[in-house]
Amino acid sequence: MNATDKDSLKTDAQLKKCLCKKCKSFSDCEEVGGYCISTISGSRCITEEKECLCRKCRVHKENNYRFQYYCIKNSEEQQSEMG
Ligand code: SF4
Ligand code: SF4
Repeated sequence: MNATDKDSLKTDAQLKKCLCKKCKSFSDCEEVGGYCISTISGSRCITEEKECLCRKCRVHKENNYRFQYYCIKNSEEQQSEMG
């Protein structure tokens, strides 16, 4: 298995845990969530912060993430770089 396949398996596993589709801020434009993940990083259609379920998400806990509202503010990595 090459690195790209491993990355996509990891992404699939994270997307199964992702709570975005249950979130009031989620707006259905055929996205799959996972906005915290670097290769996805943010939404093209979500613009309004109504609530964020990320702090209850297993992906967030397992990775010790610090931020939230990834749909609007982009991935954990990108928000870290902003300071
Ligand atoms: S932390 Fe947020 S964006 Fe990332 S998988 Fe969980 S619910 Fe989705
Ligand atoms: S990143 Fe947070 S605010 Fe955005 S849809 Fe996911 S849970 Fe909701």
